[in-house]
Amino acid sequence: MSGLFNQTEDQQSLVELVRDFMNKEIKPHVLEWEKEGHYPREVIRQGIEMGFHMMQVPEEYGGMGLDTTTTSMLIEEGAKVESTYMSMFNVTSMGGKIVMAAGNEEQKQYYSSLLQKGYLSAFCLTEPGAGSDSAAVRTTAVRKGDAYVINGAKMFITNASLASVFLVVASVDPSKGSRGLATFIVEKDRPGVQVSKKIEKFGMRLSNTAEVVFEDVKIPLDHLIGTEETGFANAMKVLTASRPIVAASSLGACQLARDLAVQYSKERVAFGKPICAKQMIQEKLANMEILIQAARGLVYNATMLLDQGKPCTAEASIAKCFTTEAYWKIADDAVQIFGGYGLCDEYLISKLYRDSRVNRIVEGTNEIQRVIIAKAMLR
Ligand SMILES: Cc1cc2nc3c(=O)[nH]c(=O)nc-3n(C[C@H](O)[C@H](O)[C@H](O)COP(=O)(O)OP(=O)(O)OC[C@H]3O[C@@H](n4cnc5c(N)ncnc54)[C@H](O)[C@@H]3O)c2cc1C
Repeated sequence: MSGLFNQTEDQQSLVELVRDFMNKEIKPHVLEWEKEGHYPREVIRQGIEMGFHMMQVPEEYGGMGLDTTTTSMLIEEGAKVESTYMSMFNVTSMGGKIVMAAGNEEQKQYYSSLLQKGYLSAFCLTEPGAGSDSAAVRTTAVRKGDAYVINGAKMFITNASLASVFLVVASVDPSKGSRGLATFIVEKDRPGVQVSKKIEKFGMRLSNTAEVVFEDVKIPLDHLIGTEETGFANAMKVLTASRPIVAASSLGACQLARDLAVQYSKERVAFGKPICAKQMIQEKLANMEILIQAARGLVYNATMLLDQGKPCTAEASIAKCFTTEAYWKIADDAVQIFGGYGLCDEYLISKLYRDSRVNRIVEGTNEIQRVIIAKAMLR
């Protein structure tokens, strides 16, 4: 951190905790686990034991009680080693945030008790036919006696294979469009819940993504969070709040790509000198630093607005767009600096290049972010 965004002592010690953990437990194995395509269970368990899956859950419910700014600092720090590890916990923590914001006291107690048992969760909004157009959700929740019966399929769900509980957005009244969407707590062990095989992706292979199908899944009425009309609003709030966190993750990864590029440019010799002596290489390095410093300003501007409860829909989208595109550009230039070696699997930079493609799509594509920004400008 530099300039405007000084960390408090508490934030510094949490960031150090993440840094030490990531450097000791994750860094030495990243490429090996990347080949396997998943984190070992034991390594996930370590993060749960440290409470990372409850970062934003209030302390009175057993969580770490962190605000968005501090959460983003931890996510950024984690991404300086590997970006999907802390993000996996953030998905669960964000789910906890929805329940804390929109649930009643019993639901808060119940949901936090699941997380305290070490459960991970997943947020199920996207469907095969409803991505950017999230109001087009076709999954239904039909009230029958003392239960809702859920039917439908959810696509690209992060943590799906690891989660024990899902937050599911489903339509209780398709004739009302987005106003007929509601959010439900659905435990994975309920009959009719099926998680597909992991979806194989070329980027962020260490992040678990799968499809979840709900076939006549019965859940009690008290598993509806908030009201039958507020599911879409809940989802939009979560997405706004999580965009700066996705940006923070990209910001951490930008720094890793920059550091790898700086180091390699000092070591690689061409025409009798390290390539960092060449001005065309220096230009790339300087541009990386410009993007990183600008991205940092945007990320923490958005998180601070969120923490102050101020409107920040456009700012969250701006931070998400700028930082995820900066990550992609920096990773691309870093590969260029590595030359042919940048394409080889045994070099971490090739993983970063592949990973950098993902964040421009998740949490609302960057086209949708621009729609949001323009809408705010034209209001
Ligand atoms: C790795 C990964 C993890 C994910 N995790 C989750 C998760 O945990 N939970 C969850 O619910 N979802 C998750 N998603 C889904 C993600 O949010 C969607 O993929 C994303 O919103 C885009 O939807 P789509 O893939 O259906 O693309 P589409 O909506 O079909 O879009 C296709 C293209 O059309 C463009 N487009 C669409 N509408 C417009 C418009 N109005 N103006 C301009 N351009 C437009 C898009 O920008 C895109 O370029 C994840 C996705 C990925 C890849």
